[in-house]
Amino acid sequence: MADANRQMVLERLPQGDKLGPQHFRLTESARPTAGEGEVLLRTRYISLDAANRAWMQGATYRSALESGQVMAGGALAEVVESNVGHLEPGDTVFADTGWQDYAVLPGKRLEKLPAMEPVTHLLSIYGVAGLTAYFGLLECGQPKAGETVVVSAAAGSVGSIVGQIAKLRGCRVVGVAGGAEKGRWLVDELGFDAVIDYKAGGLRQQFKEHAPEGIDVYFDNTGGEIFEACLFAMKTFGRIACCGAVSQYDGAAPPHGPRGIPGLIVTKRLTLRGFVVMDFDAQREAALKDLQAWVASGQIKVQEDIIDGLENTPAALIGLLAGENRGKRMVKVR
Ligand code: NAP
Repeated sequence: MADANRQMVLERLPQGDKLGPQHFRLTESARPTAGEGEVLLRTRYISLDAANRAWMQGATYRSALESGQVMAGGALAEVVESNVGHLEPGDTVFADTGWQDYAVLPGKRLEKLPAMEPVTHLLSIYGVAGLTAYFGLLECGQPKAGETVVVSAAAGSVGSIVGQIAKLRGCRVVGVAGGAEKGRWLVDELGFDAVIDYKAGGLRQQFKEHAPEGIDVYFDNTGGEIFEACLFAMKTFGRIACCGAVSQYDGAAPPHGPRGIPGLIVTKRLTLRGFVVMDFDAQREAALKDLQAWVASGQIKVQEDIIDGLENTPAALIGLLAGENRGKRMVKVR
């Protein structure tokens, strides 16, 4: 079809089962056009996020996804047609295009992004991942030099940046990740001090070995048994930045919640703070300045994991949930 718009539809919502290719269907419709106050966007890079799966479980900081809709998701996109004054064809924006070639959206809240090489950094280090790591660690975790910081999903897009920022702040950094290969990469390439392989079992023993004096700050990306093991290893007055719970997103609900609540939280006087990156929008420019300086000086290494083709978005998300990715996973649409 000339001017076709390929769309990845969420055919049906998983019901306690793991996400699979059967939950999606690729379809095609005509390319839409922009109405008054709207822009037509061409999707370039779709951000793959653990949260994409959480949205299928019910309402979060956005409304729940529904069967039959185009799969939701943020992307870097190019303006093709514009009926708003502040955007023109060729501009790059970050928008909730969903998993499709073209999307029409209201232009009011979209913002032109600066030109950047590579443009994908706008999705990784200068996008949601980098800003989540920055604000979650520095604002919620409040790490001080010499303290021990633990981060889970440490080789992922948020975790890999959290660990590097904590090192910059003079902390001892312990990552939690699946498999020896990811562990080696975190230590050898990103400068983590130690890594715990949660797939190897014996979590509480591993924490005793690698954080013998206890944890001052835990950046929680996973929830579940890693969160529980951290509760036991936290120091008195420790801080936990609750960022997400990827271990709870895909499949049936866990049989029980973490033990140690409230006993350990109370007796250790822990502070737990949940946050959503948008909470810190007012401080975004200052954060971006810091991140840019750290990338320019080589103090932060940016790892991107780019998969080709809109048709591969379901496999890319399923693979992210299975731990295939290193750093920020995204799909290049065209
Ligand atoms: P990511 O970390 O790039 O990828 C997810 C990683 O999670 C996988 O690579 C996998 O690595 C790990 N994982 C999967 N299942 C696991 C399990 N059962 N136990 C332990 N680890 C598991 O994904 P992301 O999109 O950046 O998300 C990371 C976290 O940040 C998520 O919890 C997400 O919800 C959260 N987030 C929060 C905000 C906010 O504003 N609060 C914003 C963005 C993201 P392994 O190989 O190590 O298993």
